[in-house]
Amino acid sequence: MADEAPRVVIVGGGHNGLVAAGLLAKRGASVSVLERRSKVGGAAVTEQPWGPHYKMTALSYVMSIMPPAILDELQLARHGYRIHPQHGYFAPLPDGRALQLSGTPAQRHASIAQFSSRDAEAHPRWEAWLGDLANTLGPLLSAVPPRLGSKRPSDLLDQARLAWKVRNLDQRGVGDVTRLFTMSIADLLEEWFESDPMQGVLAVSGVIGTWAGPRSAGTAFVMAHHQIGDLGDGQITGEWGFPEGGMGAVSEALRAAAESFGARIRTDCTVARVVVRNGRAQGVALDTGEELAADLVVTTLHPKYAFLDHLDRNDLPDDFVAGIERWRTRSGTVKVNLALDRLPDFLSHPGVDPLVHGGTIVLAPSLDTIEGAFQDAGAGRAAAEPFADICIPSVFDRTLAPEGHHVMSMFTQWVPHQFAEAHHPDELDAYAERVIARVEALAPGFTNSILHRQVIGPYEMEHTYGLVGGNIFHGELTPSQMFHMRPVPGWADFTTPIAGLYFAGSATHGGGGVTGIPALQVVRRIEHDRRTGALAKLRRRR
Ligand SMILES: Cc1cc2nc3c(=O)[nH]c(=O)nc-3n(C[C@H](O)[C@H](O)[C@H](O)COP(=O)(O)OP(=O)(O)OC[C@H]3O[C@@H](n4cnc5c(N)ncnc54)[C@H](O)[C@@H]3O)c2cc1C
Repeated sequence: MADEAPRVVIVGGGHNGLVAAGLLAKRGASVSVLERRSKVGGAAVTEQPWGPHYKMTALSYVMSIMPPAILDELQLARHGYRIHPQHGYFAPLPDGRALQLSGTPAQRHASIAQFSSRDAEAHPRWEAWLGDLANTLGPLLSAVPPRLGSKRPSDLLDQARLAWKVRNLDQRGVGDVTRLFTMSIADLLEEWFESDPMQGVLAVSGVIGTWAGPRSAGTAFVMAHHQIGDLGDGQITGEWGFPEGGMGAVSEALRAAAESFGARIRTDCTVARVVVRNGRAQGVALDTGEELAADLVVTTLHPKYAFLDHLDRNDLPDDFVAGIERWRTRSGTVKVNLALDRLPDFLSHPGVDPLVHGGTIVLAPSLDTIEGAFQDAGAGRAAAEPFADICIPSVFDRTLAPEGHHVMSMFTQWVPHQFAEAHHPDELDAYAERVIARVEALAPGFTNSILHRQVIGPYEMEHTYGLVGGNIFHGELTPSQMFHMRPVPGWADFTTPIAGLYFAGSATHGGGGVTGIPALQVVRRIEHDRRTGALAKLRRRR
């Protein structure tokens, strides 16, 4: 980092705030992270809701796409970062069979062929097609979106650079990408597969964290976003894994790394507003009245807090404010966390099987059941048959539960997104009972194995964790809020209309998920601005 060490205040100690803190401190900046809760991590957090014997990864549960640039530069392995690779999908069905998308290609083929030999033939082609798309689109995940439509020479140059990045797309590829952006995941899957279990299991990644059912336009793209993991340096992966110690251990490793480079982390410290004087961020004010001066402020909060609560709207352009007010941030997700005294024993696969218990257990027997769950919530009722994406990280990680016991994470959808506006404890309990009853039907005795239960709905996500509207990604990951639109057209480059204030939360491109990409990009942006002196010019330009 150039010349004099800047004083940087980072608002929010979620994983993005911690990554930015580590990278900036390593470059010589004087960094303070201010976190409202008593522990860091935000949505990447391990908690002990049932006392000292169980560690539960409360919200997010699997790692995928954190770039090696972050892992290596922050030396995270030295600070305890360790991933247990997860096995593939296991989808048990009420008729006693199960679809398994794990193991060898021959095992996968045989499992799919129980339902359709045509689907078994199609699956390797589907994976190859997704792989090709990943190779083309993956590098865009680590690109800074240009200001599309701007005629300024430097913006035109950025637009040309973007076109160059996707130069390998031929006419067919452009058609595929257009279809992906506009189609529903249901329409796409029905073109490829005919059996209900196959369509159901593959549809889940099109609706995870999304206020849209599988028959809604744009959900094909959501699937692609989740499937196509670009590691930021051109390495592509769709692989997922469980961090040892739960997702909070990733945050603790990031905290330790940042502190090792000299960053200060303050918890129980709520920022009330960003101090702006003469059009420039000068620091922050806490809810206690204390003010902290800074040369640069990086905010990682939900954009509604970052821009509508922490700034005076008169300091922002009207169209920017309108864009943030329009920002859609619903999802109707409910997390059900359990402590178990034994592993579930599935009718289709009796006994303990690493490919069953060490994978993602999916309750989504068909497109229609998933769509039905969304339609219920759209009509104002918690779903009668919620879909669930379940995993048992203690199968690999014995630090999470006592010997023989396990912790289970159930990611489920949907309840009405309006549940974010008020507590709905009774409806959430009844909803959790229905998810548990679905597992009981597939693995008799499951209910009796439950020792403890925690249910986190949209209201708790907003009020405890700062996820406005209960959206798990700080804002819906639909095509209308992606890339150059994230969070507002013209401001997808990690800067904001306030000089000296940068934005690196999940509502930026590359965000939504424990990726650290927004933090990496913001650090690169700050370096660039300091190198070119752009910071000083920003106010004049806008
Ligand atoms: C149920 C659920 C499941 C998920 N599953 C996965 C998954 O398996 N894999 C995956 O990759 N992603 C998953 N995600 C998404 C992922 O967890 C988030 O996108 C990511 O953790 C957000 O990180 P962040 O640093 O951008 O923001 P946050 O984690 O939200 O951090 C923001 C921080 O700011 C703090 N804060 C808020 N207001 C103030 C204030 N006024 N002053 C100071 N601090 C403040 C908050 O307490 C919080 O710690 C999931 C999310 C949820 C909710």
